[in-house]
Amino acid sequence: MARLVELGLLIAVGLTGPAAAQSGARPRPPGANHVGRAFEFRPVAEGVWQAVGTGTLGVGSNAAIIVNDADVLVVDSRTSPAAAWVLLDELRRITTKPVRYAVTTHFHYDHAHGNQIYGPEVEIIGHEFTRGMLAAGASRRGSAYDGFVSFVAARAAELRRQVDTASDPARRTELGHQLRRYEQQRIADRAVVPTPPTMTLNDRVTLVRGGREIQILFAGRGHTGGDVVVYLPKEKILVTGDLLQERLPYLGDGFVADWIETLGVLDRLDVAAFVPGHGAWFSDRGAIGRLQGFLRDFLAQGTAAHREGLSIPVAARRMDFRAHLAVYPQLADTADTYDRLTIGLTRLYEGFGRRP
Ligand SMILES: [Zn+2]
Repeated sequence: MARLVELGLLIAVGLTGPAAAQSGARPRPPGANHVGRAFEFRPVAEGVWQAVGTGTLGVGSNAAIIVNDADVLVVDSRTSPAAAWVLLDELRRITTKPVRYAVTTHFHYDHAHGNQIYGPEVEIIGHEFTRGMLAAGASRRGSAYDGFVSFVAARAAELRRQVDTASDPARRTELGHQLRRYEQQRIADRAVVPTPPTMTLNDRVTLVRGGREIQILFAGRGHTGGDVVVYLPKEKILVTGDLLQERLPYLGDGFVADWIETLGVLDRLDVAAFVPGHGAWFSDRGAIGRLQGFLRDFLAQGTAAHREGLSIPVAARRMDFRAHLAVYPQLADTADTYDRLTIGLTRLYEGFGRRP
């Protein structure tokens, strides 16, 4: 009998659409097709999860899921309405409670471009700066977004060429799966309508949901002008967005000098687990000092280059970050590092008010 009831429920869910329970029966957005599960839910603490993409769907960044007594808060909606919709669908693997809060840590496309999927029952919370940037369309221009669009297009073109020339049928099938993933991502991106927060803060806001206290804090400018973090003081969990990762974050919209200070503010919080927007969650608070060390060095070398009147390409080639290679192995990729430094220096030089 129980099985029949369960079967009946499954059929009912199937009839009303797979994400009916979580997304207010919103239709499946374009670009959501994928094979297998799109998300892995990694437990951080009781009722707190990190949702990490499995690679079958382009999702952009990680999400944090905070399940409260009666509702759910999701941190970051990822790269498209498709990615956000699939997350709501798969969320049923860990909870049947409704999503009522969605925090947008910052305006970047890979964190905010799923926001449109939320209905009026969901409060989207972010910094006033993030609201302004999303309202002004800033998430769809600039080197971060341009780089993403050209990467996806180039990857799709390359895979299409490889599918055409692959002789091994199994290899061709595998390449075909990969190609469809990137084609879906292009379709999903075209459906994005940047959607700003519906509730903003400049300093902090605290939600008390049953037994859980959730602090949404602005600790200062950093990766952008309005990054917020989500802090659970009882559980000692800090969701950091792109403000703090174990890898090197994007520098193109950053405020480097402020960022070093902001990380210092975060360092004063009692944290047992950091949940970043990219990479696995971690406990080692040494990541704060390591990122501060890189940013200080970048600021010092960039400032010196500017003072010397070096052009950005010359400065980017001359800068030396070998001292950070053990901490950030991605610096071994010289082409990637050159691009990263060029973008970072462009931003830094803008801050100095003139470009040599
Ligand atoms: Zn970002």
